[in-house]
Amino acid sequence: MSSIDCIFCKIITGLIPSPRIFEDDQFICIRDIQPQAKIHLLLIPKHHVASLDEAFPTQGVSYSTMLARMMELSVQIARENHLLPPGYRSVINTGKGGGQTVFHLHLHLLSGDV
Ligand code: AMP
Ligand code: ZN
Repeated sequence: MSSIDCIFCKIITGLIPSPRIFEDDQFICIRDIQPQAKIHLLLIPKHHVASLDEAFPTQGVSYSTMLARMMELSVQIARENHLLPPGYRSVINTGKGGGQTVFHLHLHLLSGDV
């Protein structure tokens, strides 16, 4: 499922070109266009879910399996791209009050000058 006005959905479908650090059937990993650290990657599920709030609704099905896979993959990508060692920060912003600006769930991986 993709959302027509979503910039990450456009990147996922190739409408907006963005080189991949990693891609499989469920996720892409790209470089952030405005890096907040020496290395700043974004791990993005291909399925459009707006935020953690939407991923874990008070009623109905949650995205636990997808989120678990996202965390597992983030460690793999961090190792493969030499963020680990030395280490990195993982961040998920949720909602406007949490600094979220793109409403398609994503995990920031930040390393160096964080
Ligand atoms: P957030 O503020 O947590 O929603 O993070 C959204 C991130 O997406 C920001 O760090 C932006 O710099 C980044 N971003 C927005 N547009 C693009 C793009 N076309 N390619 C790569 N990163 C982007
Ligand atoms: Zn989207």
